[in-house]
Amino acid sequence: MNKPFDYGERVLLLDSKQRRYLLVLKEGGEFHSHNGFVPHADIVGNHEGLIARSTRGSSYTVLRPTLEDFVVQMPRGAQVIYPKDLAPICMLADIGPGVRVFESGVGSGALSMTMLRWGAEIVGYEIREDFLNRATSNVRSFLGEDALSRYHVQLRDAYEGIDETDLDRVVLDLPEPWNVIRHAETSLRLGGIFVAYTPSITQAAKVRETLAESRAWNGARTLEVLHRGWHIEGQAVRPDHRMVAHTAFLTTARFLGVHEHAAMAEPLPEVDDLEDLTPQDDVTLDDLERPTLGE
Ligand code: SAH
Repeated sequence: MNKPFDYGERVLLLDSKQRRYLLVLKEGGEFHSHNGFVPHADIVGNHEGLIARSTRGSSYTVLRPTLEDFVVQMPRGAQVIYPKDLAPICMLADIGPGVRVFESGVGSGALSMTMLRWGAEIVGYEIREDFLNRATSNVRSFLGEDALSRYHVQLRDAYEGIDETDLDRVVLDLPEPWNVIRHAETSLRLGGIFVAYTPSITQAAKVRETLAESRAWNGARTLEVLHRGWHIEGQAVRPDHRMVAHTAFLTTARFLGVHEHAAMAEPLPEVDDLEDLTPQDDVTLDDLERPTLGE
């Protein structure tokens, strides 16, 4: 990675006010600003951290963009999931190299790119061809052609079924994720993980109700991630005045299998119950893992 910039590469330019500009370096290309332009040739051959000057004296710090930089600026059709939720989703779904994920819908591919970055193999169903093409081009554009060998997207309705079997994860961002739960039950391997991203709490509640009814799931929980930036400048150290107050709820559960054992099993304590108990000194981790806890 620590090599000089070359044509065809994507770079991030930051101006003195930390405004960000993404561009792809082209032969003969120019980055035009309100204060002259920077020829791409001035960037090529230099390393990250370069301070490039425009023809009328503005300076720009040049870096390679991170996935976070790309996701918030990339071309999009559908609304994307933001970094605040992307990383927690990967943690909840325990994404890692070689993990087989079913994803639907794929939208603009922000979540796909993140899971691919973490090493996943993805089968994605998306009902809109324009979004599917957009997601594929975003993946290719940021992660390179090679990543497409782990990204198999199809123009399909996830509510109608999932053809794949023995999946490790089912990760959903579509309006009615509860319609996919019964399909997840025939496609996930035992111990597999389900995650649904839903903007509305009524959607999350419906997902929880459907998971609870089927009795094939363990440890269902719903959470939201709050992200508050801080302003730190000299003695002025305080939370930012503005924050994104809400994006979505994340609901997750593990698949135990639709079989007699699952239906007969004592329900394990909900994660909230476990958290209520953790401050007690006399509760050990072993106790927490016992299904009889709280009796
Ligand atoms: N997670 C994506 C955004 C997804 S937006 C990202 O990070 O970029 C929701 C997507 O679900 C839309 O693209 C929509 O077309 C798709 N969708 C809605 N219903 C669907 C269904 N039944 N099957 C598959 N895709 C569906």
